[in-house]
Amino acid sequence: MPGRRGRGVVESKNEHKKIAILGSTGSIGTQTLEVVRENKDIEVTALAAGSNIALLEKQIREFRPRLAAVWDEEKAKELRLSVRDQDVRIVSGMDGLLEAAAQPDSQMLVTAIVGMIGIRPTIEAIRAGKDIALANKETLVTAGHIIMPLAKEYGVSILPVDSEHCAIFQCLQGERGHNKPAKILLTASGGPFRGRKREELRDIQVEDALRHPNWSMGKKITIDSATMANKGLEVMEAKWLFQVDLDRIQVVVQPQSIIHSMVEYEDGAVIAQLGTPDMKLPIQYALYYPKRRPLPGERLDFWKLSEITFEKPDMETFQALALAYEAMKAAGSMPTVFNAANEKAVSLFLDRRIGYLDIPEIIAQCMAAHKVIPSPTVEQILSVEQEVYERIESRR
Ligand code: NAD
Ligand code: MG
Repeated sequence: MPGRRGRGVVESKNEHKKIAILGSTGSIGTQTLEVVRENKDIEVTALAAGSNIALLEKQIREFRPRLAAVWDEEKAKELRLSVRDQDVRIVSGMDGLLEAAAQPDSQMLVTAIVGMIGIRPTIEAIRAGKDIALANKETLVTAGHIIMPLAKEYGVSILPVDSEHCAIFQCLQGERGHNKPAKILLTASGGPFRGRKREELRDIQVEDALRHPNWSMGKKITIDSATMANKGLEVMEAKWLFQVDLDRIQVVVQPQSIIHSMVEYEDGAVIAQLGTPDMKLPIQYALYYPKRRPLPGERLDFWKLSEITFEKPDMETFQALALAYEAMKAAGSMPTVFNAANEKAVSLFLDRRIGYLDIPEIIAQCMAAHKVIPSPTVEQILSVEQEVYERIESRR
Protein backbone atom coordinates (compact mmCIF):
# COMPACT_ATOMS: atom_id res chain seq x y z
CA MET A 1 0.00 0.00 0.00
CA PRO A 2 1.46 3.42 -0.82
CA GLY A 3 2.80 5.21 2.19
CA ARG A 4 3.07 1.98 4.13
CA ARG A 5 6.68 1.58 4.97
CA GLY A 6 8.65 -1.50 5.86
CA ARG A 7 8.87 -0.05 9.34
CA GLY A 8 5.35 1.40 9.39
CA VAL A 9 4.05 4.71 8.02
CA VAL A 10 6.42 7.51 8.97
CA GLU A 11 4.24 10.57 8.64
CA SER A 12 6.62 13.29 9.79
CA LYS A 13 9.54 12.33 7.54
CA ASN A 14 7.51 13.09 4.45
CA GLU A 15 8.57 16.73 4.19
CA HIS A 16 10.11 16.32 0.78
CA LYS A 17 12.26 19.28 0.05
CA LYS A 18 14.69 17.82 -2.47
CA ILE A 19 13.44 16.04 -5.53
CA ALA A 20 14.68 14.64 -8.84
CA ILE A 21 12.35 14.45 -11.86
CA LEU A 22 12.58 11.97 -14.72
CA GLY A 23 10.63 13.25 -17.73
CA SER A 24 10.76 16.91 -16.70
CA THR A 25 9.84 18.23 -20.16
CA GLY A 26 6.62 16.21 -20.46
CA SER A 27 3.07 16.85 -19.31
CA ILE A 28 3.53 15.56 -15.73
CA GLY A 29 7.13 16.84 -15.54
CA THR A 30 6.25 20.43 -16.43
CA GLN A 31 3.25 20.40 -14.07
CA THR A 32 5.50 19.10 -11.29
CA LEU A 33 7.80 22.06 -11.90
CA GLU A 34 4.78 24.39 -11.76
CA VAL A 35 3.96 22.99 -8.32
CA VAL A 36 7.61 23.51 -7.29
CA ARG A 37 7.51 27.08 -8.62
CA GLU A 38 4.33 27.89 -6.70
CA ASN A 39 5.49 26.40 -3.39
CA LYS A 40 9.05 27.74 -3.36
CA ASP A 41 10.34 25.34 -0.67
CA ILE A 42 11.33 22.39 -2.86
CA GLU A 43 14.80 22.08 -4.31
CA VAL A 44 15.24 20.28 -7.61
CA THR A 45 18.46 18.26 -7.59
CA ALA A 46 18.26 16.46 -10.95
CA LEU A 47 16.22 16.58 -14.14
CA ALA A 48 16.03 14.07 -16.99
CA ALA A 49 14.44 14.29 -20.44
CA GLY A 50 14.45 12.51 -23.79
CA SER A 51 15.47 15.10 -26.37
CA ASN A 52 13.79 18.48 -25.80
CA ILE A 53 16.96 20.30 -24.80
CA ALA A 54 15.55 23.76 -25.49
CA LEU A 55 13.00 23.32 -22.69
CA LEU A 56 15.46 21.44 -20.50
CA GLU A 57 17.90 24.34 -20.76
CA LYS A 58 15.19 26.77 -19.58
CA GLN A 59 14.39 24.43 -16.68
CA ILE A 60 18.09 24.20 -15.73
CA ARG A 61 18.38 28.00 -15.68
CA GLU A 62 15.28 28.39 -13.54
CA PHE A 63 15.54 25.45 -11.12
CA ARG A 64 19.35 25.02 -11.02
CA PRO A 65 19.70 21.25 -10.61
CA ARG A 66 23.22 19.89 -10.13
CA LEU A 67 22.63 17.13 -12.65
CA ALA A 68 20.66 16.84 -15.88
CA ALA A 69 20.28 13.71 -18.02
CA VAL A 70 19.41 13.68 -21.72
CA TRP A 71 18.69 10.34 -23.36
CA ASP A 72 20.11 11.32 -26.73
CA GLU A 73 23.94 11.57 -26.66
CA GLU A 74 24.18 14.16 -29.46
CA LYS A 75 21.61 16.39 -27.76
CA ALA A 76 23.51 15.97 -24.47
CA LYS A 77 26.65 17.32 -26.17
CA GLU A 78 24.72 20.31 -27.51
CA LEU A 79 23.23 21.02 -24.10
CA ARG A 80 26.65 20.78 -22.41
CA LEU A 81 27.80 23.65 -24.62
CA SER A 82 24.75 25.81 -24.16
CA VAL A 83 24.73 25.57 -20.34
CA ARG A 84 28.49 25.79 -19.78
CA ASP A 85 27.93 28.98 -17.74
CA GLN A 86 25.82 26.92 -15.27
CA ASP A 87 26.91 24.72 -12.37
CA VAL A 88 25.33 21.57 -13.80
CA ARG A 89 26.70 18.28 -15.03
CA ILE A 90 25.08 16.82 -18.16
CA VAL A 91 24.90 13.04 -18.50
CA SER A 92 23.27 10.83 -21.12
CA GLY A 93 21.74 7.44 -21.96
CA MET A 94 20.60 4.83 -19.43
CA ASP A 95 23.62 5.52 -17.18
CA GLY A 96 22.56 9.14 -17.07
CA LEU A 97 18.98 8.24 -16.16
CA LEU A 98 20.17 5.89 -13.42
CA GLU A 99 22.46 8.57 -12.00
CA ALA A 100 19.66 11.15 -12.00
CA ALA A 101 17.32 8.66 -10.31
CA ALA A 102 19.72 7.90 -7.48
CA GLN A 103 21.13 11.43 -7.12
CA PRO A 104 22.58 11.45 -3.54
CA ASP A 105 21.02 14.78 -2.48
CA SER A 106 17.39 14.02 -3.30
CA GLN A 107 14.80 12.45 -1.00
CA MET A 108 12.21 11.73 -3.65
CA LEU A 109 12.10 10.75 -7.30
CA VAL A 110 9.19 11.84 -9.49
CA THR A 111 8.88 9.24 -12.27
CA ALA A 112 7.20 11.25 -15.04
CA ILE A 113 8.89 9.38 -17.85
CA VAL A 114 6.72 7.39 -20.25
CA GLY A 115 7.02 3.63 -20.82
CA MET A 116 9.01 0.66 -19.56
CA ILE A 117 12.23 2.66 -19.76
CA GLY A 118 11.27 3.71 -16.21
CA ILE A 119 11.78 0.27 -14.65
CA ARG A 120 15.54 0.35 -14.07
CA PRO A 121 15.74 3.97 -12.82
CA THR A 122 12.84 3.32 -10.41
CA ILE A 123 14.62 0.28 -8.99
CA GLU A 124 17.87 2.26 -8.72
CA ALA A 125 16.10 5.05 -6.80
CA ILE A 126 14.43 2.62 -4.38
CA ARG A 127 17.79 0.98 -3.69
CA ALA A 128 19.19 4.44 -2.95
CA GLY A 129 16.37 4.97 -0.41
CA LYS A 130 14.31 7.53 -2.35
CA ASP A 131 10.56 7.75 -1.96
CA ILE A 132 8.85 7.52 -5.34
CA ALA A 133 6.13 9.84 -6.62
CA LEU A 134 4.96 7.48 -9.31
CA ALA A 135 3.34 8.66 -12.53
CA ASN A 136 5.09 6.09 -14.73
CA LYS A 137 2.43 3.37 -14.45
CA GLU A 138 4.07 1.12 -17.09
CA THR A 139 6.79 0.32 -14.53
CA LEU A 140 4.31 -1.02 -11.96
CA VAL A 141 2.27 -2.86 -14.59
CA THR A 142 5.27 -4.83 -15.83
CA ALA A 143 7.44 -5.04 -12.70
CA GLY A 144 5.03 -4.52 -9.79
CA HIS A 145 6.04 -7.89 -8.34
CA ILE A 146 9.63 -6.58 -8.09
CA ILE A 147 8.99 -2.91 -7.24
CA MET A 148 6.52 -3.32 -4.34
CA PRO A 149 8.55 -5.85 -2.28
CA LEU A 150 11.72 -3.85 -2.96
CA ALA A 151 10.08 -0.65 -1.70
CA LYS A 152 9.06 -2.51 1.43
CA GLU A 153 12.56 -3.91 1.90
CA TYR A 154 14.16 -0.46 1.61
CA GLY A 155 11.44 1.28 3.67
CA VAL A 156 10.48 3.72 0.93
CA SER A 157 7.01 5.01 0.07
CA ILE A 158 5.43 4.71 -3.36
CA LEU A 159 3.08 7.69 -3.66
CA PRO A 160 0.67 7.58 -6.60
CA VAL A 161 0.51 10.53 -8.99
CA ASP A 162 -2.04 9.00 -11.35
CA SER A 163 -5.26 10.89 -10.50
CA GLU A 164 -7.40 7.79 -9.90
CA HIS A 165 -4.79 6.17 -7.67
CA CYS A 166 -4.20 9.38 -5.76
CA ALA A 167 -7.99 9.53 -5.26
CA ILE A 168 -8.05 5.95 -3.93
CA PHE A 169 -5.08 6.73 -1.70
CA GLN A 170 -6.99 9.73 -0.29
CA CYS A 171 -10.11 7.57 0.25
CA LEU A 172 -8.00 5.13 2.28
CA GLN A 173 -6.67 7.79 4.66
CA GLY A 174 -8.02 7.38 8.16
CA GLU A 175 -9.06 3.80 7.45
CA ARG A 176 -5.57 2.40 7.27
CA GLY A 177 -4.74 -0.13 9.94
CA HIS A 178 -8.49 -0.50 10.71
CA ASN A 179 -10.36 -1.35 7.53
CA LYS A 180 -9.40 -2.93 4.25
CA PRO A 181 -11.28 -1.87 1.12
CA ALA A 182 -13.96 -4.34 0.01
CA LYS A 183 -13.84 -2.90 -3.51
CA ILE A 184 -12.02 -0.27 -5.50
CA LEU A 185 -14.20 1.66 -7.93
CA LEU A 186 -11.83 2.98 -10.57
CA THR A 187 -13.47 5.72 -12.61
CA ALA A 188 -12.89 6.29 -16.34
CA SER A 189 -13.97 9.15 -18.59
CA GLY A 190 -14.56 6.71 -21.47
CA GLY A 191 -12.42 8.92 -23.73
CA PRO A 192 -13.43 10.68 -26.96
CA PHE A 193 -15.14 7.60 -28.48
CA ARG A 194 -17.43 6.67 -25.59
CA GLY A 195 -20.80 5.47 -26.86
CA ARG A 196 -19.53 4.48 -30.31
CA LYS A 197 -19.45 0.94 -31.66
CA ARG A 198 -16.41 -0.82 -33.07
CA GLU A 199 -17.42 -0.41 -36.74
CA GLU A 200 -17.68 3.34 -36.21
CA LEU A 201 -14.03 3.50 -35.17
CA ARG A 202 -12.50 2.07 -38.34
CA ASP A 203 -11.52 5.41 -39.87
CA ILE A 204 -10.35 7.15 -36.72
CA GLN A 205 -7.37 9.41 -37.39
CA VAL A 206 -4.55 10.44 -35.04
CA GLU A 207 -6.11 13.91 -34.54
CA ASP A 208 -9.47 12.38 -33.48
CA ALA A 209 -7.82 10.09 -30.94
CA LEU A 210 -5.70 12.92 -29.51
CA ARG A 211 -8.83 14.92 -28.60
CA HIS A 212 -9.46 13.92 -24.97
CA PRO A 213 -12.69 15.40 -23.56
CA ASN A 214 -11.40 16.33 -20.07
CA TRP A 215 -7.64 15.98 -19.63
CA SER A 216 -4.65 17.44 -21.47
CA MET A 217 -1.82 14.87 -21.33
CA GLY A 218 1.15 13.43 -23.23
CA LYS A 219 0.37 11.76 -26.58
CA LYS A 220 0.86 8.14 -25.54
CA ILE A 221 -1.50 8.27 -22.57
CA THR A 222 -4.04 10.28 -24.61
CA ILE A 223 -4.21 7.47 -27.20
CA ASP A 224 -4.35 4.95 -24.34
CA SER A 225 -7.35 6.84 -22.98
CA ALA A 226 -9.09 6.70 -26.36
CA THR A 227 -8.58 2.90 -26.62
CA MET A 228 -9.14 2.46 -22.84
CA ALA A 229 -5.81 0.58 -22.66
CA ASN A 230 -5.01 3.26 -20.07
CA LYS A 231 -7.79 2.01 -17.80
CA GLY A 232 -6.49 -1.54 -18.19
CA LEU A 233 -3.02 -0.37 -17.16
CA GLU A 234 -4.58 1.49 -14.23
CA VAL A 235 -6.40 -1.62 -12.97
CA MET A 236 -3.01 -3.38 -12.87
CA GLU A 237 -1.43 -0.33 -11.23
CA ALA A 238 -4.15 -0.34 -8.54
CA LYS A 239 -3.69 -4.05 -7.90
CA TRP A 240 -0.02 -3.50 -7.06
CA LEU A 241 -0.34 -0.22 -5.19
CA PHE A 242 -3.20 -1.29 -2.96
CA GLN A 243 -2.61 -5.06 -2.90
CA VAL A 244 -6.19 -5.80 -3.92
CA ASP A 245 -7.34 -8.81 -5.95
CA LEU A 246 -8.55 -8.14 -9.48
CA ASP A 247 -12.14 -9.17 -8.76
CA ARG A 248 -12.28 -6.35 -6.21
CA ILE A 249 -11.42 -3.66 -8.77
CA GLN A 250 -14.36 -2.42 -10.82
CA VAL A 251 -14.09 0.07 -13.67
CA VAL A 252 -16.92 2.62 -13.69
CA VAL A 253 -17.33 5.04 -16.57
CA GLN A 254 -17.99 8.54 -15.22
CA PRO A 255 -17.78 10.81 -18.27
CA GLN A 256 -17.54 14.18 -16.51
CA SER A 257 -14.24 13.25 -14.73
CA ILE A 258 -15.43 14.76 -11.46
CA ILE A 259 -15.23 11.66 -9.28
CA HIS A 260 -11.59 10.62 -9.53
CA SER A 261 -12.23 7.19 -7.96
CA MET A 262 -13.94 5.58 -4.98
CA VAL A 263 -13.46 2.93 -2.32
CA GLU A 264 -16.25 0.73 -1.00
CA TYR A 265 -15.93 -0.74 2.50
CA GLU A 266 -17.36 -3.94 4.01
CA ASP A 267 -20.38 -2.16 5.46
CA GLY A 268 -21.31 -0.76 2.04
CA ALA A 269 -20.03 2.78 2.71
CA VAL A 270 -18.49 4.34 -0.40
CA ILE A 271 -15.90 7.10 -0.03
CA ALA A 272 -15.12 9.13 -3.14
CA GLN A 273 -12.67 11.90 -4.01
CA LEU A 274 -14.05 14.65 -6.22
CA GLY A 275 -12.56 17.71 -7.84
CA THR A 276 -11.95 19.53 -11.11
CA PRO A 277 -9.59 17.64 -13.44
CA ASP A 278 -6.17 19.11 -12.56
CA MET A 279 -3.07 16.90 -12.30
CA LYS A 280 -1.39 19.44 -10.06
CA LEU A 281 -3.51 18.21 -7.15
CA PRO A 282 -2.24 14.60 -7.21
CA ILE A 283 1.30 15.82 -7.93
CA GLN A 284 1.28 18.21 -4.99
CA TYR A 285 -0.39 15.64 -2.71
CA ALA A 286 2.40 13.15 -3.49
CA LEU A 287 5.13 15.74 -2.94
CA TYR A 288 3.79 16.90 0.44
CA TYR A 289 1.94 13.82 1.70
CA PRO A 290 0.44 13.68 4.32
CA LYS A 291 0.05 17.47 4.28
CA ARG A 292 -2.32 19.39 2.05
CA ARG A 293 -1.21 22.71 0.66
CA PRO A 294 -3.25 25.52 -0.90
CA LEU A 295 -3.60 25.04 -4.64
CA PRO A 296 -5.03 27.83 -6.77
CA GLY A 297 -7.43 26.86 -9.52
CA GLU A 298 -11.03 26.23 -10.37
CA ARG A 299 -13.27 24.73 -7.67
CA LEU A 300 -16.26 22.45 -8.14
CA ASP A 301 -19.48 24.47 -7.98
CA PHE A 302 -22.19 22.02 -6.95
CA TRP A 303 -24.92 24.58 -7.64
CA LYS A 304 -23.84 24.73 -11.27
CA LEU A 305 -22.91 21.08 -11.69
CA SER A 306 -25.92 19.63 -13.45
CA GLU A 307 -25.13 15.91 -13.31
CA ILE A 308 -22.66 13.16 -12.61
CA THR A 309 -23.52 10.03 -14.59
CA PHE A 310 -22.31 6.44 -14.56
CA GLU A 311 -21.99 3.69 -17.18
CA LYS A 312 -20.62 0.19 -17.52
CA PRO A 313 -17.55 0.03 -19.81
CA ASP A 314 -18.17 -1.43 -23.28
CA MET A 315 -15.54 -4.19 -23.42
CA GLU A 316 -16.51 -5.23 -26.95
CA THR A 317 -15.78 -1.87 -28.49
CA PHE A 318 -12.85 -1.13 -26.18
CA GLN A 319 -11.13 -4.42 -26.78
CA ALA A 320 -7.87 -3.17 -25.24
CA LEU A 321 -9.55 -3.06 -21.84
CA ALA A 322 -10.74 -6.65 -22.22
CA LEU A 323 -7.22 -7.69 -23.28
CA ALA A 324 -5.74 -5.95 -20.24
CA TYR A 325 -7.99 -8.06 -17.99
CA GLU A 326 -6.84 -11.18 -19.85
CA ALA A 327 -3.21 -10.17 -19.38
CA MET A 328 -3.77 -9.57 -15.68
CA LYS A 329 -5.37 -12.97 -15.26
CA ALA A 330 -2.53 -14.71 -17.09
CA ALA A 331 -0.12 -12.65 -14.87
CA GLY A 332 3.70 -13.18 -14.87
CA SER A 333 5.15 -11.79 -18.10
CA MET A 334 1.77 -11.31 -19.86
CA PRO A 335 1.21 -7.74 -18.59
CA THR A 336 4.64 -6.94 -20.10
CA VAL A 337 3.47 -8.33 -23.45
CA PHE A 338 0.27 -6.29 -23.22
CA ASN A 339 2.18 -3.16 -22.31
CA ALA A 340 5.05 -3.53 -24.80
CA ALA A 341 2.70 -4.38 -27.68
CA ASN A 342 0.53 -1.41 -26.77
CA GLU A 343 3.53 0.96 -26.52
CA LYS A 344 4.79 -0.12 -29.93
CA ALA A 345 1.36 -0.12 -31.58
CA VAL A 346 0.57 3.36 -30.23
CA SER A 347 3.85 4.69 -31.56
CA LEU A 348 3.14 3.16 -35.01
CA PHE A 349 -0.36 4.67 -34.94
CA LEU A 350 1.04 8.10 -34.01
CA ASP A 351 3.46 7.75 -36.97
CA ARG A 352 0.40 6.93 -39.15
CA ARG A 353 1.84 3.53 -40.06
CA ILE A 354 -1.14 1.52 -38.75
CA GLY A 355 -4.86 2.18 -38.27
CA TYR A 356 -6.64 2.79 -34.98
CA LEU A 357 -8.24 -0.67 -34.77
CA ASP A 358 -4.87 -2.30 -35.45
CA ILE A 359 -3.79 -1.31 -31.93
CA PRO A 360 -5.89 -3.93 -30.05
CA GLU A 361 -5.38 -6.37 -32.92
CA ILE A 362 -1.59 -6.23 -32.53
CA ILE A 363 -1.83 -6.57 -28.75
CA ALA A 364 -4.08 -9.65 -29.14
CA GLN A 365 -1.68 -11.29 -31.62
CA CYS A 366 1.35 -10.72 -29.39
CA MET A 367 -0.47 -12.09 -26.34
CA ALA A 368 -1.64 -15.18 -28.24
CA ALA A 369 1.94 -15.94 -29.29
CA HIS A 370 3.44 -15.60 -25.81
CA LYS A 371 4.26 -18.33 -23.34
CA VAL A 372 4.00 -16.89 -19.83
CA ILE A 373 7.06 -16.65 -17.59
CA PRO A 374 5.57 -16.85 -14.07
CA SER A 375 7.63 -14.31 -12.08
CA PRO A 376 9.98 -12.62 -14.55
CA THR A 377 13.22 -10.90 -13.51
CA VAL A 378 13.99 -7.39 -14.81
CA GLU A 379 16.21 -8.94 -17.49
CA GLN A 380 13.41 -11.27 -18.56
CA ILE A 381 10.90 -8.39 -18.63
CA LEU A 382 13.21 -6.36 -20.85
CA SER A 383 13.90 -9.28 -23.14
CA VAL A 384 10.15 -10.00 -23.47
CA GLU A 385 9.72 -6.31 -24.36
CA GLN A 386 12.39 -6.68 -27.06
CA GLU A 387 10.82 -9.88 -28.44
CA VAL A 388 7.44 -8.16 -28.68
CA TYR A 389 8.94 -5.17 -30.50
CA GLU A 390 10.72 -7.49 -32.95
CA ARG A 391 7.58 -9.52 -33.55
CA ILE A 392 5.62 -6.38 -34.40
CA GLU A 393 8.38 -5.05 -36.66
CA SER A 394 8.68 -8.38 -38.50
CA ARG A 395 4.95 -8.62 -39.29
CA ARG A 396 5.20 -5.41 -41.30
P1 NAD B 1 4.91 12.99 -21.96
O1 NAD B 1 5.08 12.29 -23.25
O2 NAD B 1 4.24 14.31 -21.95
O3 NAD B 1 6.35 13.18 -21.28
C1 NAD B 1 7.28 12.14 -21.18
C2 NAD B 1 8.59 12.66 -20.62
O4 NAD B 1 9.52 11.57 -20.58
C3 NAD B 1 9.24 13.76 -21.47
O5 NAD B 1 9.89 14.67 -20.62
C4 NAD B 1 10.27 12.99 -22.28
O6 NAD B 1 11.37 13.79 -22.66
C5 NAD B 1 10.70 11.96 -21.26
N1 NAD B 1 11.31 10.78 -21.87
C6 NAD B 1 10.78 9.95 -22.79
N2 NAD B 1 11.67 9.00 -23.14
C7 NAD B 1 12.78 9.25 -22.41
C8 NAD B 1 14.04 8.63 -22.31
N3 NAD B 1 14.36 7.56 -23.03
N4 NAD B 1 14.94 9.15 -21.44
C9 NAD B 1 14.66 10.25 -20.69
N5 NAD B 1 13.47 10.87 -20.75
C10 NAD B 1 12.55 10.37 -21.59
O7 NAD B 1 4.17 11.96 -20.98
P2 NAD B 1 3.19 12.28 -19.77
O8 NAD B 1 1.81 12.42 -20.27
O9 NAD B 1 3.76 13.33 -18.89
O10 NAD B 1 3.22 10.87 -19.02
C11 NAD B 1 4.31 10.45 -18.21
C12 NAD B 1 3.87 9.24 -17.39
O11 NAD B 1 2.86 9.66 -16.49
C13 NAD B 1 3.27 8.11 -18.22
O12 NAD B 1 3.63 6.88 -17.66
C14 NAD B 1 1.78 8.32 -18.09
O13 NAD B 1 1.04 7.13 -18.21
C15 NAD B 1 1.68 8.87 -16.67
N6 NAD B 1 0.51 9.72 -16.41
C16 NAD B 1 0.35 10.88 -17.09
C17 NAD B 1 -0.76 11.68 -16.83
C18 NAD B 1 -0.94 13.01 -17.52
O14 NAD B 1 -1.85 13.75 -17.17
N7 NAD B 1 -0.13 13.37 -18.48
C19 NAD B 1 -1.71 11.27 -15.91
C20 NAD B 1 -1.52 10.07 -15.23
C21 NAD B 1 -0.40 9.31 -15.48
MG1 MG C 1 -5.24 8.15 -14.66
